[in-house]
Amino acid sequence: MKGICILGATGSIGVSTLDVVARHPDQYRVIALTANGNIDALYEQCLTHHPEYAVVVMESKAEEFKQRIAASPVSDIKVLSGSDALTQVSTLDNVDAVMAAIVGAAGLLPTLAAAKAGKTILLANKEALVMSGQIFMQAVTDSGAVLLPIDSEHNAIFQCMPAGYTPGHVAKQARRILLTASGGPFRKTPIETLPSVTPDQAVAHPKWDMGRKISVDSATMMNKGLELIEACLLFNMAPDDIQVVIHPQSIIHSMVDYVDGSVLAQMGNPDMRTPIAHAMAWPERFDSGVAPLNIFEVGHMDFEQPDLQRFPCLRLAYEAIKAGGIMPTVLNAANEIAVEAFLNEQVKFTDIAVIIECSMAQFKPDNADSLELVLKADHQARDVAKAVIVALAA
Ligand code: NAD
Ligand code: MG
Repeated sequence: MKGICILGATGSIGVSTLDVVARHPDQYRVIALTANGNIDALYEQCLTHHPEYAVVVMESKAEEFKQRIAASPVSDIKVLSGSDALTQVSTLDNVDAVMAAIVGAAGLLPTLAAAKAGKTILLANKEALVMSGQIFMQAVTDSGAVLLPIDSEHNAIFQCMPAGYTPGHVAKQARRILLTASGGPFRKTPIETLPSVTPDQAVAHPKWDMGRKISVDSATMMNKGLELIEACLLFNMAPDDIQVVIHPQSIIHSMVDYVDGSVLAQMGNPDMRTPIAHAMAWPERFDSGVAPLNIFEVGHMDFEQPDLQRFPCLRLAYEAIKAGGIMPTVLNAANEIAVEAFLNEQVKFTDIAVIIECSMAQFKPDNADSLELVLKADHQARDVAKAVIVALAA
């Protein structure tokens, strides 16, 4: 029986994880669930899954939640609040696996702490890895933590790697990764109309049902940019050995090209419960609740080159990982600020790339050898991006 802590339990990945957990009560026990401020969803999850701990990060919501739990049939749940509580629960002795499913930089510290504590990290929170890079990978190596990718592409690549492969190592016979992308909702939208697309249009993803931030990232293809950096780190590959491939059907979740000419692909219906169940059962397999793939319904599959004019964010991500140092941290931070501003209708969709590019231009790729340097770059880049937004509005 393994104990699991789900960071970001109320989000899209968190909910899918609990769906898989509920199918395997003989193998997983929920130790801790965390939410930012969605106490209604967290309360329902507590009633169903009866964790030992529940964390509400927003202090303003925590008191009401504590009272509701105290008056409920699950009043023995320990309720904690504030962001430090995330690290407290991700490192508990009886937690074996941590699902890192907080969105954005807010997930870094509890996930890194879990890595340092030698936990099995089920990594969905790609921003945490992109911003901390080698520091995160080194923490995993030093502690002997097990790192398993949840992002569907990286989970697919991991499944296509040679037997016994562990993330962070070089797979010598694998010469290239083909990182698939759906192309998002604006793959065919006339380029001249992109400045006027709305947040609702941007979050309406054709194939995947996800949180709002990652949905906007998919529309700009920054999601693929972050995933490119994630793949460089997880699979120890150079950016030029990773080819982004637009595959609108989202049936192949990525491929590995071997020196003998074999190309291995992992396929399946686009449902995050497959990579979640794969990582949770690894190295075994168990039921995820996902319907079997109907290959006849798929019929055919298309593959296209990404258009970097249409998707400048993808170009910026290649530039950031090639520059190295703090540049991926800066890219990620500026993107988080730009996406939030777009969702709040403060800037246009096409401003997102402009904000990131202008922000990156104000940094040098200084080293990112310590957590302090990474956090400093993250904070500075957020301030710079906010200043760019103010300048754009003037
Ligand atoms: P979401 O917005 O649906 O959920 C985010 C979760 O994080 C919620 O539980 C929320 O309460 C919590 N959270 C938000 N801000 C927080 C903060 N400041 N402090 C603490 N908790 C906070 O997002 P999602 O779609 O589930 O994505 C989660 C992560 O997984 C992201 O990093 C995303 O890139 C990655 N991911 C998601 C998918 C997907 O299909 N949804 C696929 C691959 C990777
Ligand atoms: Mg993905």
